Amino acid sequence: MKNKLLIVIASCFVILFAGCAKKENNTDTLNTIIKRGKIIVGVKYDTKPFGYMNEKQQLVGFDVDLAKYIAKSILGDEKKIEFKPVTPSNRISLLSSGQVDMIIATMTITSQRKEIIDFSIPYYVAGQAVLVPKDSGIESIQDLNGKRVIIIFGSTAEKNLRLIAPDANIIGFKTYTRGYSALKQGKADAMTSDDTILIGFALCDHSVKILPKRYTKEPYAIGFKKGPISFRLKNEVDSILERMKNNGELTMLKNKWVKY
Ligand code: GLU
Repeated sequence: MKNKLLIVIASCFVILFAGCAKKENNTDTLNTIIKRGKIIVGVKYDTKPFGYMNEKQQLVGFDVDLAKYIAKSILGDEKKIEFKPVTPSNRISLLSSGQVDMIIATMTITSQRKEIIDFSIPYYVAGQAVLVPKDSGIESIQDLNGKRVIIIFGSTAEKNLRLIAPDANIIGFKTYTRGYSALKQGKADAMTSDDTILIGFALCDHSVKILPKRYTKEPYAIGFKKGPISFRLKNEVDSILERMKNNGELTMLKNKWVKY
């Protein structure tokens, strides 16, 4: 009788621990990535030089290379990635709904975003700037009051512009390509975003210029779904980024892609 009772108790423990182990595997993104054999990464497809399609229709850029480095470190092969296109307004929902494992998309750490997603340590610091046609007469951010200014929905520039030039007439677009072509068509007087992104346009088009002042600091970091599901993945990515800072890989990426 006593033996039977012991067997029943032991079986209960086995079932309980098996259940726990299974649950743990399903609720840990690093485990999911390793089992799946690839990382699903959200990047921009229209944001030169961080994530964009080149003339050969290849996805390239700083964030793309960073994703490849992380795949190589975690899975031993930089090709073990599936890229998904994201925009500033959909990237957080793609992350929260589990459609991507991480976002590497010129995304600034902000306290508001930290409430809904987790961030790695920063890997780059940009600053917000203003892009204008050379003949616009706009020389400073204050000159934007009363002017039509393009922002991209969901970006930090949207909120910052309201604080810095409260009387600017804000025109929003979903993507940088659409915003920039509206500026070129004369539908707006200026466009504001990170210097890194605006420089990508200004380098290819000498009819526009970037005003010298930067009015924010934008520390870029990798985004993860919020909570314990991402703890191990975040720790792993943080230590990869630390290593890249120490061994010069991050500086090499900057020198390769950010030319100004
Ligand atoms: N870094 C800014 C942000 O996270 C602007 C660039 C972007 O929208 O990706 O909002």
